[in-house]
Amino acid sequence: MGLMALGKNYDGQSCALASTLEVIGERWTLLIVRDALYGVRRFGDFQAHLDIPKAVLSQRLATLVDAGVLERRRYQEAPPRDEYVLTAAGRELWLPVLALAQWGERNLGEHGPRRLFHHVSCGGRIEATSYCATCGAMVGPADVEVRPGPGLGAGGRQDRVSLALRTPHRMLDPIP
Ligand SMILES: [Zn+2]
Repeated sequence: MGLMALGKNYDGQSCALASTLEVIGERWTLLIVRDALYGVRRFGDFQAHLDIPKAVLSQRLATLVDAGVLERRRYQEAPPRDEYVLTAAGRELWLPVLALAQWGERNLGEHGPRRLFHHVSCGGRIEATSYCATCGAMVGPADVEVRPGPGLGAGGRQDRVSLALRTPHRMLDPIP
């Protein structure tokens, strides 16, 4: 009871957050998860969209696979090529990614959101809690469309992923 029990619970909670940050707290990692939520699966697409050094990308992908956030799938045998797909645990990171992005919009953003998230079935805007503002449904990434937002601007990156995300795109669907 009392202080002992409280102390144990608190330790448990900080451990869980610390364990989470061991997996997703490194530079680039959440951006890789975000891109995977957009439907990016291939090494070259992550690399082109993020402009991340290849060695760093390899290391981050390996960490995410080891942690059960991404699953490596062979999609071509000769030459061997793998793609990286979010697991069920990885898709749960949709909530923190959305919340962190919207925190940045409120507190750091100057030009409005670069991406807007809409419920596919009713078109409503998805809020930081992942509830749809229009119909009230709690919406996972498979039922969300990402659309270009007012902060995106006209020019910008020309890689395959950036170009695909200039028009509405169903989350988790592979980048065409
Ligand atoms: Zn809705």
